[in-house]
Amino acid sequence: MRLLEYEAKQILGNAGLPVPPGLVMRQDESLEARITFPVVVKSQVPVGGRGKAGGVVIVETIEELQTATDTLFGLDIKGFTPQSLLLEPKLAIADERYLSILLNRETASIQLVAHKDGGVEVESNTGFYREDITPESIPVLSRKVAELFGEENETAIQDIVTNLYECFTANDALLMEINPLVRIQSGAYVCADAKIELDDAARFRHKDWNFEEKRLDANFVTLDENGEVATIANGAGLAMATVDAVAGAGMKPANFLDVGGGANKESVLKAFNRIMEYKNVRAIVINIFAGITRCDEVARAIIAAREEIDSLPPLFIRLAGTNFEEAAVLLKEKDIATLATLEACLDAANEQISKAEVN
Ligand code: GDP
Ligand code: MN
Repeated sequence: MRLLEYEAKQILGNAGLPVPPGLVMRQDESLEARITFPVVVKSQVPVGGRGKAGGVVIVETIEELQTATDTLFGLDIKGFTPQSLLLEPKLAIADERYLSILLNRETASIQLVAHKDGGVEVESNTGFYREDITPESIPVLSRKVAELFGEENETAIQDIVTNLYECFTANDALLMEINPLVRIQSGAYVCADAKIELDDAARFRHKDWNFEEKRLDANFVTLDENGEVATIANGAGLAMATVDAVAGAGMKPANFLDVGGGANKESVLKAFNRIMEYKNVRAIVINIFAGITRCDEVARAIIAAREEIDSLPPLFIRLAGTNFEEAAVLLKEKDIATLATLEACLDAANEQISKAEVN
């Protein structure tokens, strides 16, 4: 379950991490009396890259604020428009760092990840500092991170790492990412942005979990951030079988996704956008056996994804069941091919990946 930024910051703030004082604004709500300018207005959508998409705006006056909120409430970011905006006093940024703690399924360990250069270009970074983290190793790791950041005040870093680690374990998180972790001009640190993913399987232990976006990720599981094949299927069984088949054919699946019986153009389009966050995906395998789901709705989402998403990886599509004929016509009009079997999709995906490797 992926939280919205303001929800993530509440959790971090409660754990003693330095988060900016923020106001959550809903549509048609006026908070003017409580705002001090300049203020940062941030779209609350559950995807990254908002800054680059125009979803983070700094304003100096009430008039600018009005314009910014009107724009942001109507601005679609990777398939999401916000139900709320987060308003925070603008920070006097000296440096932007990257810090996260995550559960690494491959090593079955919790890891600390850091980089000197945080901010919106973090995806192009290489050479991340990455170490397993335990309560005992925190002092040593914190010293290394302080060194990496060029920070003489090791205690400041150790406090942040300690609180973040405790917050991570206490909340059954899969990921807590602070990017950027800002050093402001006074020398203090502030979590300027926060991304949290919680483990849905731990819900029974957290009766207080009551987040806005919980419906979104219910049937979407990241298997490998660096996976090369993304999957879209319907029904948990078929989705699992599709993941297994991808792995069985010698490729690394990135995700499990069951779009569910109520799959429509919007929900499938959201899935595509979510998949675009993986950096190494070279092929998307779509395996739909439609009963309640309608193939034509899926086809419309596929067409929209092709039109709206830049550099969408090649699609390998197998559709069968309800409204297949209608879907076939829609896809054919757009020159989008479908294949008769999952095996054919996997063969074609494999070929595509070897081709991409040669280039
Ligand atoms: P993201 O693009 O979705 O990751 O949103 P961020 O909250 O990380 O904001 C993007 C960028 O806005 C940051 O990396 C900063 O460089 C920039 N920025 C400038 N001033 C501020 C500020 O006062 N607060 C925050 N949060 N970001 C700021
Ligand atoms: Mn960010």
